[in-house]
Amino acid sequence: MSAPSAAHAPRASASEAPLIAMHGVNKWFGSLHVLRDVDLDVSRGEVVVVVGPSGSGKSTLCRVINRLEPIDSGDIHVDGRPLPVEGRALARLRAEVGMVFQQFNLFAHMSVLDNVTLGPVKVRGVPREQARRRARELLGRVGIADQADKMPARLSGGQQQRAAIARALAMDPKVLLFDEPTSALDPEMINEVLDVMTALAGEGMTMVVVTHEMGFARRAADRVVFMADGQLLEQAPPAEFFDHPRTDRARDFLSKVL
Ligand code: ADP
Ligand code: MG
Repeated sequence: MSAPSAAHAPRASASEAPLIAMHGVNKWFGSLHVLRDVDLDVSRGEVVVVVGPSGSGKSTLCRVINRLEPIDSGDIHVDGRPLPVEGRALARLRAEVGMVFQQFNLFAHMSVLDNVTLGPVKVRGVPREQARRRARELLGRVGIADQADKMPARLSGGQQQRAAIARALAMDPKVLLFDEPTSALDPEMINEVLDVMTALAGEGMTMVVVTHEMGFARRAADRVVFMADGQLLEQAPPAEFFDHPRTDRARDFLSKVL
């Protein structure tokens, strides 16, 4: 793993602190306790892959980090600051903590290029022409420069997801969260998305990735986190987790997915 690039090099005093720090985080949906005393630190440049059965709270874990969902107790810091609740600070947080969803979530009524340009212009105040140049560059980086002027619906699922990654990157995020980014894709398109993610990981992007792609986890993760029933039951380097899971829950899970 290479060091984080200068582009997201933090203030010297903050560089030792984790980029994401979650302590004692609890979240309920009504009477359903979906995050139970979650402690999770993510360092700069680290790739954390979150695995676990359906319904264990993986999406919620992602969504509380950029405050798409509020938490009920505990605290979350991103880059040394507590999560903002509203206003410009919240918009800035959402720019710093990029998110890539299973369903791509591109704006259907605007071109791929406009999808990637919108955030930097509206939230970051980047001049339009500059944002468009950067967007073309990023679309090239994810291998779909030739799709820039099309509407999202004209793209394959794999191309749409790569456009969504370019859109997230356009905000110069400090960290990217991926929530099952390949689960909605036809099998032949999964690798083109995983390859882009693997390249980002290699370039030092800080990433939290929820996925069922265990090959990707082995290859790209610095650490695998196993979640069940709202708890982080195991955290280990991939070789250790896959070869020597410690809990029955993890062994049972792995016997089904491997
Ligand atoms: P995972 O991503 O691991 O499948 P989720 O975080 O999506 O798990 O969901 C955890 C639990 O919380 C599930 O039981 C799910 O049904 C429930 N849940 C998720 N979102 C909501 C919501 N907005 N309202 C009520 N229950 C929810
Ligand atoms: Mg989920």
